[in-house]
Amino acid sequence: MNLDSIFDNNKQWIHNKLAVDNDYFTKLGSGQNPELLYIGCSDSRVAAEDLMGLEPGDVFVHRNIANMVISIDLNVMSVVNYAVDHLKVNHVVVCGHYACGGVKAAMQSADLGILNPWLRNIRDVYRIHKAELDGIKDEEKKYDKLVELNVQEQCINLIKTAAVQKAYRERDLKVHGWVFDIHTGKLIDLKIDFENILEHIMEIYHLD
Ligand SMILES: [Zn+2]
Repeated sequence: MNLDSIFDNNKQWIHNKLAVDNDYFTKLGSGQNPELLYIGCSDSRVAAEDLMGLEPGDVFVHRNIANMVISIDLNVMSVVNYAVDHLKVNHVVVCGHYACGGVKAAMQSADLGILNPWLRNIRDVYRIHKAELDGIKDEEKKYDKLVELNVQEQCINLIKTAAVQKAYRERDLKVHGWVFDIHTGKLIDLKIDFENILEHIMEIYHLD
């Protein structure tokens, strides 16, 4: 790839935006007010705004390997706090994707160095749902299911945070679990029953 082409693309992009709205960059420069926080995978094929058909300014984005929400990760926790407490987003999405290399690596026992402690969090998801996963004989289907369960567990990790609990009470902030099907391009809402999950976990994780 010739990186010069990126700068040519950029000139073309500016041209296209200004052709539609001459004030486009004046508006963009005046501040952001996104409705949505999107937490997705760093995978190069899962382009956040593109797959949702959204524009700059519409969505606050955080991406890491396997779309994890880990309570001691200062990076993701800062993003969640800033988006929920300051930008006042009304929706938080955790979006996983099928054929996720991070999830696949966690299903195998290879030593991946610095990635080990990161992937261990996905191995914990496997442990929590071991009975259900071990009941799936088809390896591909099991892998897809772990992708979905990982999204669910990361949504639960979000609900455990004080920022999300406060916003949930104050303005009915919604948490969503989605999966991007890389084979078809389809975005799937897992329709996770958070009311039910919340009832079960609030006893333990409730924060005033
Ligand atoms: Zn991935």
